[in-house]
Amino acid sequence: MKKYAGKSVYKGIAMGPLLVMKKTDDLVKRSKIEDAEVEIGRVSEAIETSKEQLRKLYDKALKEVGEANAAIFEVHEMMLDDDDYLDAIHNMIRTQLVNAEYAVAVTGDNFAEMFANMDDDYMKARAADIKDISNRLIRNLSGAQDADLTSAEPSIIVADDLSPSETVQMDKSKILAFVTVHGSTNSHTAILARMMNIPALIGVPMNLEELQTGSLAVVDGFQSEVIFEPTEEIQDQASERIKEEQEKQQLLQNLKGQENRTLDGKTVNIYANIGSVGDVGYVLENDAGGIGLFRSEFLYLGRDDFPTEEEQFQAYRKVLQNMAGKKVIIRTLDIGADKQVDYFNLGKEDNPALGYRAIRICLTQTDIFKTQLRALLRASTCGNLSIMYPMITSVWEVERIHEIVEEVCKELEEEQIPYQMPEQGIMIETPAAVMISDELAPLVDFFSIGTNDLTQYTLAIDRQNEKLDPFYDPHHKAILRMIKMVVDSAHAAGKWAGICGELGADLELTKEFMQMGVDELSVAPSMVLKIRQRVREMKVNQ
Ligand code: PEP
Ligand code: MG
Repeated sequence: MKKYAGKSVYKGIAMGPLLVMKKTDDLVKRSKIEDAEVEIGRVSEAIETSKEQLRKLYDKALKEVGEANAAIFEVHEMMLDDDDYLDAIHNMIRTQLVNAEYAVAVTGDNFAEMFANMDDDYMKARAADIKDISNRLIRNLSGAQDADLTSAEPSIIVADDLSPSETVQMDKSKILAFVTVHGSTNSHTAILARMMNIPALIGVPMNLEELQTGSLAVVDGFQSEVIFEPTEEIQDQASERIKEEQEKQQLLQNLKGQENRTLDGKTVNIYANIGSVGDVGYVLENDAGGIGLFRSEFLYLGRDDFPTEEEQFQAYRKVLQNMAGKKVIIRTLDIGADKQVDYFNLGKEDNPALGYRAIRICLTQTDIFKTQLRALLRASTCGNLSIMYPMITSVWEVERIHEIVEEVCKELEEEQIPYQMPEQGIMIETPAAVMISDELAPLVDFFSIGTNDLTQYTLAIDRQNEKLDPFYDPHHKAILRMIKMVVDSAHAAGKWAGICGELGADLELTKEFMQMGVDELSVAPSMVLKIRQRVREMKVNQ
């Protein structure tokens, strides 16, 4: 038995087998081999396993996200038959007598570079596919788990760190908990864990080399610890506590259908945050009044090319229809900073958090922005849609957005495509936007305060930098005063203001937010009923 402490990003308790996710780079070590034909045989076997996984992924994607999105897995399967790619791998093994993992890694890098340097945009985008299939082959060669968990049983995922694009591809029904060596409490992986209602620990000083996939572990988000190979006594205690937690969750279920009304009669909207169409299930399950933040950039992650207008339209339509008339606020693309996507070719930046991201990309690459806006305006006919724009700092940005939206409306009219004008709001997540919120309010329908970034930019703390977690204080007076200022600016202009950052779910602040007059709290679906409970037990004016 071994016990490690970490930082808990979601309080819950889980027990189950480990799934150790090693980075592909760690799986590739060059070694000399004796028999080239044996090594080539290993490559053939790994190709067959990979094809089988890809076929399963295709079938799953076909059912869940449609043929257009599933097609990529067919493309990958075909690439595994490419003669040039295979000849290069075989040739390297035969001439240099190196192991298969190494030959696949080097060939994959060479081919990816070759594609990336081509003029044709379609061919350029294939570089990411080559990397993807090479990584899959390497994982299968070394017996490591495939990143998408196609063949895994529900497990505790243990990793060095997980990027948003890695987590977005995972089959969520296979995840019992996350435990990582690195990562910060405000990373998107932490946000995902909260969304899924599963315990997650970060900053755990464990050695992945010592851990075995399949061995048993307990993750305790309350005590902020993970126990590998627990004794029978600990297993029994964990089972007992899992049962207690389930009972508590059951009690919360009684609050479904109840109003978010305080004892002295004040109400607040409690909405939920989501990152994918599939998350709508969590929203309905937890009886949220609407969706206060759909992080649409997750549609762009974990793939090799831009989602088309039609693909986006279908995704937005599904969310709106499933929410059946309840409000759905979709945030336009917030790529950049920690959410990196190869095909955007954003280039390396010294300060990505202060860099080319979100609305800055949309206002300079208007074709990408317009495609998304067209999909949104069209989907608006299918339900109660609002759009909001991230990372606003200036009045001119909002004015320019309105101009672009108008151009899109005209295009749709000319093409006689039906659309509906949604409410439009902005995220207040920079100190600049707070300070000019009185000027911004008349230009928009609502404000939604992004406390994750607002804290990062106000306290000058990179939210991704785990070393700074002790300094990341969203309860800082500066942040709370800013929230009050934003709410007052909105109300003075007759608009509403909500909070969609993680702070909105902080039960210690629910009362203060209501005293400030915050109109909406948009939180992880798993927090909706807990906040409702808090609201119903309090008096605002006491
Ligand atoms: C925020 O910054 O608070 C926010 C809600 O957006 P994200 O976490 O996606 O940056
Ligand atoms: Mg943000």
